[in-house]
Amino acid sequence: MPLKKYIRDIQDFPKPGIGFKDITPLLSNPIARQETLDLLLSTVKDKKIDKVIGVESRGFFFGILLAEALNAGFIPVRKPKKLPFETISATYDLEYGTDTLEIHIDAIEKGDRVLIHDDVLATGGTAKAVCELVERLGGEIVQCNFLMELSFLNGREKLGDNEIFAAMTY
Ligand code: IMP
Repeated sequence: MPLKKYIRDIQDFPKPGIGFKDITPLLSNPIARQETLDLLLSTVKDKKIDKVIGVESRGFFFGILLAEALNAGFIPVRKPKKLPFETISATYDLEYGTDTLEIHIDAIEKGDRVLIHDDVLATGGTAKAVCELVERLGGEIVQCNFLMELSFLNGREKLGDNEIFAAMTY
């Protein structure tokens, strides 16, 4: 099934000049959703993943499905002041200004094999900050995976030697 059929382009969202990839048609179709999940799982199912990280908020959808299928823990990485327990944070640059992500300090044990998941790899700033959080807690990053990679933004260059997989590439 051509999965891209279930990704809707929205012009000028959330700001004028930005083209937004909307994943809600994919989420609402059970066959396309299962196919996407199977594709993501195909490259990690034998890699003994201990923890799956889902990045707020669209990374939570498939993050939970991946964790369930891999019999792994699910760890949310969230925007500041959302997580109730003690956290560490990483700040990264945006086009204008900065953004910050947080994780609970006890979310990952040293040596845990971690899969990082988000919906979109764009410039790579978000995923790089998540990698930094995992590394600071002593986790081993097995793969960063995404529903889609916007390859023209060269995000993978920011992720160094980490293995990257995307179900769709634009
Ligand atoms: P990056 O940090 O530039 O790689 O941007 C990735 C983050 O921005 C992810 O957490 C995405 O959820 C979000 N994002 C960027 N572009 C899009 C898009 O077109 N659709 C949905 N989310 C996007």
